[in-house]
Amino acid sequence: RRAAYAALRDVAPETKDGHRVTVMVNAGLRDDAAALDITGADGIGLFRTEFQFLVSASLPQRERQQRLYREVLEAAGERPVVFRTIDIGGDKALPYLNIEAGDEENPAMGWRALRLALERDGLMKAQARALLEAAGGRTLNVMFPMVSEAWEFDEARALFEAQRLFLSGRGKRMPNEIRYGAMLEVPALAEQLDLILPQVDFLSIGTNDLTQFLFAADRANPKLAERYDWLSPSILRFLRRVVEPARAAGVPVAVCGEMGGRPLEAMALIGVGIDRLSITPAAVGPVKAMVRSLDRTAIAAEMDRLLAHPPRDMRGVLGAWAATNGV
Ligand code: PEP
Ligand code: MG
Repeated sequence: RRAAYAALRDVAPETKDGHRVTVMVNAGLRDDAAALDITGADGIGLFRTEFQFLVSASLPQRERQQRLYREVLEAAGERPVVFRTIDIGGDKALPYLNIEAGDEENPAMGWRALRLALERDGLMKAQARALLEAAGGRTLNVMFPMVSEAWEFDEARALFEAQRLFLSGRGKRMPNEIRYGAMLEVPALAEQLDLILPQVDFLSIGTNDLTQFLFAADRANPKLAERYDWLSPSILRFLRRVVEPARAAGVPVAVCGEMGGRPLEAMALIGVGIDRLSITPAAVGPVKAMVRSLDRTAIAAEMDRLLAHPPRDMRGVLGAWAATNGV
């Protein structure tokens, strides 16, 4: 099987009825960029910039951040890299910034990610400058984590734009194009699609956090692992409700949570209209193989049918459908 997946490296993930699915990888450290050449993925759909902060004993200075971003962009070449601004706080402590773990009763729902970054804006300004300079002469794709309100996205983008003006005023080479995206992982944002869609260049759905917030079930608590399922009608209907207006607005939507790396889940995602996935590198082969055996029109019709009258055992029903249909 391994060899079969390796053979898919240079083969496009296209469904049997000719729909191209974009399959990218999640990454966080410089060496992860090698996964692009190993797997033949279409790009890095989620670069978790907080990893560098978490593995450092002291605050990574702007030059160090910039060097990492440039190295990753160079390794990616023509392929896009989506940089997510730091998602720290909560359980991802940074002692050197006096951000301690254990200070909050509900860290996942706490002062983290964009909430923290908009307040500690010195941190985000430095990161913005590092990203803008690293992507000089190229396209910069940047996205903000844990956006809960449309105005948070506007503020974050305005911060980047102010840094861009400042740096270009100083003669620094800036990106040819900047594409700004929001992560959709807090359910509240889905109720503001009419506000956020005109603002963003893309959306990326973080199903890890989205699932825990939708089900009020801590993603790190093993006692709850059996209590919800990525194939539940709640999640799949939620995603479908996001995809439709986004498509009408011409905004690409990706899924970058772990869900997309499981072939059966990826099949269901394609069935509700998702055609961009960013997944763990080891999942690229299995997901490509699934995509190439799938008829998109057939799975879309099956998902419509199942979501109208969801069976209790969605996983079993979808598994059986896949087996019958040679997926
Ligand atoms: C997510 O929440 O699904 C996601 C991709 O981000 P992280 O796992 O880093 O929170
Ligand atoms: Mg998340």
